[in-house]
Amino acid sequence: MTESKNKIPAEAPIEIAGAGPAGLAAAITLAHAGRPVIVHEMQKEVGHRFGGDFQGLENWTTQEDVLKVFEGLGLSTDFSAPPSDHCTVFDSTGKSYPIKSDEPLFYLVERGPGPDTLDSALLRQAQALGVDVRFNSRLREMKGEGILAAGPRAADAIAVGYHFETTMDDGYWAICDNELAPEGYAYLLISNGRGTVKTCMFSGFKQEKLYLQRTMEAFERLVGLEMRNPEPHGGSGNFRIPHSAYSGPHPLIGEQAGFQDTLWGFGMRLAISSGVLAAQSLLTGDNYDRLWQRDLKPQMEASVVNRALFSLAGSRGYDWFLAHLVAQPNLRKSLRRQYQSSWPKRLLIPWAKRRYTSRRKDISCDHIDCHCIWCRGECC
Ligand SMILES: Cc1cc2nc3c(=O)[nH]c(=O)nc-3n(C[C@H](O)[C@H](O)[C@H](O)COP(=O)(O)OP(=O)(O)OC[C@H]3O[C@@H](n4cnc5c(N)ncnc54)[C@H](O)[C@@H]3O)c2cc1C
Repeated sequence: MTESKNKIPAEAPIEIAGAGPAGLAAAITLAHAGRPVIVHEMQKEVGHRFGGDFQGLENWTTQEDVLKVFEGLGLSTDFSAPPSDHCTVFDSTGKSYPIKSDEPLFYLVERGPGPDTLDSALLRQAQALGVDVRFNSRLREMKGEGILAAGPRAADAIAVGYHFETTMDDGYWAICDNELAPEGYAYLLISNGRGTVKTCMFSGFKQEKLYLQRTMEAFERLVGLEMRNPEPHGGSGNFRIPHSAYSGPHPLIGEQAGFQDTLWGFGMRLAISSGVLAAQSLLTGDNYDRLWQRDLKPQMEASVVNRALFSLAGSRGYDWFLAHLVAQPNLRKSLRRQYQSSWPKRLLIPWAKRRYTSRRKDISCDHIDCHCIWCRGECC
């Protein structure tokens, strides 16, 4: 076992930059072990950049149900999470593929500061354990020991759309069509009279308005999308597998490290897992790079290969994939296999990494709120 250079003295308060899922999961893990923790959050509330967004907490990358995984990690599941075992996906010709699974494929969670959100549940748990969460506190420099959890530093993918109220029945739909969502997918999630519609794009960012317009028209035509009081919403994702996820002596977690699902952008679980691993590395003296490379890197590499294959195959490739997917007797297991390392995938990794490179070239800058030339150009 490699000894970490940043094993900490028992009583030193540990600072964390960012109260997203990654930062709060790290804070909770440290607090469970009795360590004093200060979390700095530059916004006035948790989940500010999401403001009521619906997101899917994927339930296929582990055999164990994701909520049980959270419980096993000592994390709160006191948030609204209706399970979804079905959805409908349309291919580029408008053909529909009803997706059905015996077990939940994902849980629909709300993000932001509301009472039932994932973010608020983690915040409540952290505060109950004595974590000092400081809002409107932008960490500009980390002097002592701590963890960097400040979210994406570049836009490798963007999701653009609306939050809205609706009289539509609950349901989940996606469209895989490069004409609506270049190299990505469009989605519509409705729950309890509220919804989100987005185009999630991996290229063509400058024409986001055109793709969003096409997305809305397609959902109106295919499922009768009806929106009341629509509020524009969007965000970016940063996908990168770094050589090292240390910035100086500080572990980087979640999207600040570039940890993401490069295929579809289901980043919440990687954010949370990396937060727990970074906290464990501080508690035990284990090397954090060793931990995330063992537990998270194989899945992230598989997702880079999947993305490279999909971007090569285009809409027709997606059509084939969907037809293949609905024919699977155990969909959850089949998706898990897609996300696992295998020898063909390992062979393809060098090709996939060349084909898919993050817009973010360097994560070695230790400046959290930085005005250096590199950060001005790429980071913020
Ligand atoms: C539109 C959209 C839809 C998505 N849908 C899904 C989905 O369906 N499923 C899924 O799994 N993932 C989804 N994701 C990805 C998921 O939201 C992220 O992967 C996850 O939130 C990353 O967590 P994080 O803690 O690393 O970063 P964040 O959630 O971004 O949290 C970082 C926090 O750090 C704060 N911060 C930044 N700088 C500083 C500083 N200097 N000092 C103090 N605080 C600072 C920020 O204000 C922020 O609160 C989606 C993302 C977007 C944009």
